[in-house]
Amino acid sequence: MDEGLKGCHLTAHFMTAPSRVFVPSVTEENGGAIGLGVFSSEETAWSVLRQFLKKSHLMALKRSDLVIWDVDKVGEEGMTVLSSMHCRDCPVCKRRTFWIDLDTFSAMCTGQACEAWIEESTIEPGIIDLGWPPMRFLKQAENLEDAILELNKVGAQLEAAGRTPENSITSIPEE
Ligand SMILES: [Zn+2]
Repeated sequence: MDEGLKGCHLTAHFMTAPSRVFVPSVTEENGGAIGLGVFSSEETAWSVLRQFLKKSHLMALKRSDLVIWDVDKVGEEGMTVLSSMHCRDCPVCKRRTFWIDLDTFSAMCTGQACEAWIEESTIEPGIIDLGWPPMRFLKQAENLEDAILELNKVGAQLEAAGRTPENSITSIPEE
């Protein structure tokens, strides 16, 4: 093959290929990693990851990661961790569907009909907002631990009333 032509072809290829890619993955309780694909936009990678986490009640998952890889860089230099989340039992619905990001003080239950959430306030930095949409419950806390305690109270109230997130607001049948 003509070396000049080959070089030309490679240059054109590198110019159109993305210089960085977004790679979501989850880790199972037994340590096995599941790659969810390689994406050229952060938005798509997040949407693929969120879609997958909706199935968390069907699987034993312990962790999710969203990593940026710079193309053509060797080893860890090319890698940036965008988000790591850990899966815990939800304080409200008690299912193992509560995803916590300890770096951003945010959390979200991906369980059906629950969606308990925690997020740092965008208006008052350092203050943590939390909520449980089915009861339109909204509250603020000083830190992540207190926020989880508040959601625990919601869970305890539901339990005391003999209700679960499913039958408290909708008629979605138990799986
Ligand atoms: Zn929940």
